[in-house]
Amino acid sequence: MLERGAAVGDEVLIVDDGEGGWKGIALALQLAADGKRVHLSTPLPYVGAALGPFTQNKLVPRVAEAGIVRHPFSLLTAVDDDGVTLRTDGKPNRLTGIDTVILAGWHEPVTDLYFDLKPRHASVRRVGDAVASRTMLESIHEAERVARRV
Ligand SMILES: Cc1cc2nc3c(=O)[nH]c(=O)nc-3n(C[C@H](O)[C@H](O)[C@H](O)COP(=O)(O)OP(=O)(O)OC[C@H]3O[C@@H](n4cnc5c(N)ncnc54)[C@H](O)[C@@H]3O)c2cc1C
Repeated sequence: MLERGAAVGDEVLIVDDGEGGWKGIALALQLAADGKRVHLSTPLPYVGAALGPFTQNKLVPRVAEAGIVRHPFSLLTAVDDDGVTLRTDGKPNRLTGIDTVILAGWHEPVTDLYFDLKPRHASVRRVGDAVASRTMLESIHEAERVARRV
């Protein structure tokens, strides 16, 4: 959506699949700033639950101030022409008027470069999101560990 120019409607549901990280919140804040009505669902007890407490202290109030409607303890169960259905606290939770659903959670790693180079160079190592989609901290930490062995 951010890079490929997909159209976004006026009322958007962003679905965090349990990653609880930056993507859902960053997208929600951007779309709210763009004037969209934004919902953010997460199966976790609150949005951004996987972020550190110092980040949460700054970020979660911004989500509230931006008027983003939060749906904790929620899983997406259906999308149809009139809206979406979440399962919230174990019960169906119908949201009408949603015209765009964005999945913002775990992503598949992009590994082509690694598997292309690996058979040709004995010293090739894989770090960061090429292993699994996480945060910059893991990428930096894993890269440093590899670099220290060189
Ligand atoms: C919307 C969003 C917000 C985020 N916000 C945060 C945040 O605030 N804080 C945080 O810690 N993390 C955040 N993350 C996660 C963070 O961006 C990633 O964890 C981090 O960028 C991973 O670093 P990396 O170097 O492993 O991979 P990348 O940053 O993805 O770098 C890999 C690079 O390799 C290039 N590449 C891939 N295949 C090839 C190829 N075959 N040939 C040449 N080049 C290739 C890619 O184009 C890319 O430039 C966010 C992620 C998203 C999607």
